[in-house]
Amino acid sequence: MLLLTYMLVGVVPLVLFTNTIFRTMDEYFVQERKKELLSQANILSGKISASHYLYDNTKWSQFNEEIRQMSNKENFRIIVIDSSGIVVNDSSRQDIGKTYLVQEVIEALDNKDVSRQQEDGVIYVAVSILDEHSNKIGVVLISALSNDMSATVGEIRKQSNMLLAIIAIMVAILMYFATKFFTEPLKKVLGVIIKMSEGHFDQRIDIKGIRHNEIADLAVACNNMAERLEQVDTSRQNFVSNVSHELKTPLSSMKVLSESILLQEDVPKEMYVEFLEDITSEVDRMTEIINDLLTLVKLDQKEIPITFVKAELNQIIIDIIKRMKPLANAKDIQLNYILLKQEVFADIDKTKFILAISNLVENAIKYTAEYGKITVTLDCDHQNLFLSVSDTGIGIAEEEINKIFERFYRVDKTRNRETGGTGLGLSITHSTILMHNGSIKVTSKEKEGSTFLVRIPLRQTT
Ligand code: ADP
Repeated sequence: MLLLTYMLVGVVPLVLFTNTIFRTMDEYFVQERKKELLSQANILSGKISASHYLYDNTKWSQFNEEIRQMSNKENFRIIVIDSSGIVVNDSSRQDIGKTYLVQEVIEALDNKDVSRQQEDGVIYVAVSILDEHSNKIGVVLISALSNDMSATVGEIRKQSNMLLAIIAIMVAILMYFATKFFTEPLKKVLGVIIKMSEGHFDQRIDIKGIRHNEIADLAVACNNMAERLEQVDTSRQNFVSNVSHELKTPLSSMKVLSESILLQEDVPKEMYVEFLEDITSEVDRMTEIINDLLTLVKLDQKEIPITFVKAELNQIIIDIIKRMKPLANAKDIQLNYILLKQEVFADIDKTKFILAISNLVENAIKYTAEYGKITVTLDCDHQNLFLSVSDTGIGIAEEEINKIFERFYRVDKTRNRETGGTGLGLSITHSTILMHNGSIKVTSKEKEGSTFLVRIPLRQTT
């Protein structure tokens, strides 16, 4: 297809163009030749009438000689015809005495000068011969080949057509390879994209074979996209299996609890109460997981629209600390807020911001042993606010730090079941901070403590 287009665009106009030029040149030369022949015929016609060649038999040989010379010199055939259409003289001597009433002769007798090129390329001109009373007494008919220039043009035309044919073939061959060079790698890329759209994200394009730069870039971009899609697909699968697993655990314990009561006879009332309390706490846990999941999903789908409002943050954080205080007190943990700036105004979505920061403080309390210390600070520069939550808790191992924002990721599963975590809190915090166009960083040392540092721009441009 590409090849055909190139041929149409490149070769066809060239052929048309050269042919038109040659045709115009040819016509020009034929026209010039006609004019020349007409003037020769007129000269001869004048001589014939002036010398009375047609009447004066004594001048016959002179007449013959004149025609012969002229015909030889100019290399054309001269035929002289009288008014009745009979050939009086012929430079080729073939047709003397024959009747020669061709179209050109009739028109010339009608007092029109005729010049015409026949299909075979021979040019005929005919002019009438007049006597002294302007009566038409005959016709001079000259037939000649078109001149040398015209023949040369014809030759050049033939050669250039041949050259064009060769060029066309060469272009076609070149185009064939060029299209192969471009379309083959594109086909490769397309093939992989089609496979990916069918769900095979493990497909990659072999970049080694692609020599064309832009297409190689495209292939690399395509491979990166495939990698990303594969990651998304894997994390989606992990997420689904994590959700199922997390929900299955409380369900199994509820089943065990209820079955153990059902299978026993004469169960004391206290046991009923105790088991039902356990079941209720499992239901609470499931509810907690489902609520967190719903929050996350909504954040993901941008279902909860983010609405930024300018707010003073010191007060908001003091309120969060106040709400968390009882939790900290229960473990005799010091929970301090260090106020670095008197006023920090920023565009935030209040509900989401409070949720995100509460998660951080709640975690700090959860993962800090009794008599520990938690410090929250808030600072800002011209562009960003910086909020840090530091604890003297259990810390996080270096290799775990990158994973804690993943959904359901918990460093120590057994410990977390006691502390009641769902493994979703930091995912929610992370998503929320991203929605505020900010970032979150963690520094931590095992058994010494962790610091979560949040940066959020003071002004939101949306
Ligand atoms: P969870 O509901 O289990 O607390 P999070 O998503 O809030 O889930 O946290 C993920 C994991 O990161 C936690 O299970 C815990 O192992 C670790 N983590 C979070 N915050 C802290 C902290 N302040 N100190 C130590 N470990 C932490």
